Amino acid sequence: MSHTSKVALVTGASRGIGRAIALALARDGATVIGTATTLEGADGITRGLKEANAEGQGIVLNVTSSDSIDQAIAHIKQHYAMPAILINNAAVTQDNLFLRMKDEEWNRVIETNLNSIFRVTKICLRDMLRARWGRVINISSVVGSTGNPGQVNYAAAKAGLIGFTKALAQEVGSRDITVNAVSPGFIDTDMTRDLPEEHRNTLLQRIPMQRLGHAEEVAAVVAFLASNGASYVTGQTLHVNGGMYMP
Ligand code: NAP
Repeated sequence: MSHTSKVALVTGASRGIGRAIALALARDGATVIGTATTLEGADGITRGLKEANAEGQGIVLNVTSSDSIDQAIAHIKQHYAMPAILINNAAVTQDNLFLRMKDEEWNRVIETNLNSIFRVTKICLRDMLRARWGRVINISSVVGSTGNPGQVNYAAAKAGLIGFTKALAQEVGSRDITVNAVSPGFIDTDMTRDLPEEHRNTLLQRIPMQRLGHAEEVAAVVAFLASNGASYVTGQTLHVNGGMYMP
């Protein structure tokens, strides 16, 4: 799965699944630019890549800000090359039952998890089109397929991202650019660590493999989709969920 000299941009790479994706792509030889919302987080990514003897660095990026996206891309362009591999991973949750959900909770999740993907992908796609090679991988969620009470905003964003993936895959397939989604189930990260014990146990009963997934298990699937081995896979959603949901 060699990506020698290819630049990969991974949003939200300071922790959890994004961090594991950054390290997996680095292991496959990509130059990895991972992003965090803080300088401290970006420095942590740079340290992690150094420890793995990988090329690349951490940079600051807030995916809800066009200015921040422009600055990040300008930095990547100046110091590396435009990304050939884009992993849209950054996301937040802001759960509430629908009738209690405030406009801000709805807007923050749609802005961070869906609108950001429109902006970041658009800015990277032009160079992929010119290069006639590219990989766009969007991190969705099982909840985008199944729904989940208390997560109308998150489920809507993650389902929207699957539609985005299929439509864009059809637009750019002829240029050897693949666009896919990876849909994790219940993965052991900061996002799931705060779940109440009772809710966690109920969820575990719905997982045939009877455990949470590891970030590395999601990263391995992303690395496959980014590789030349997945050159004829596009518009797909690969589910990584221990059997929790079987489409
Ligand atoms: P996480 O541990 O909460 O990490 C979220 C990442 O997103 C962090 O790097 C964070 O940066 C970044 N981020 C948050 N807001 C951002 C913004 N406005 N601009 C740029 N970056 C931002 O999440 P995770 O569990 O690894 O999840 C990664 C992806 O998998 C997400 O798309 C999530 O929806 C999806 N997913 C996760 C699970 C799960 O069980 N964990 C299940 C299904 C899908 P900072 O560190 O700087 O805050």
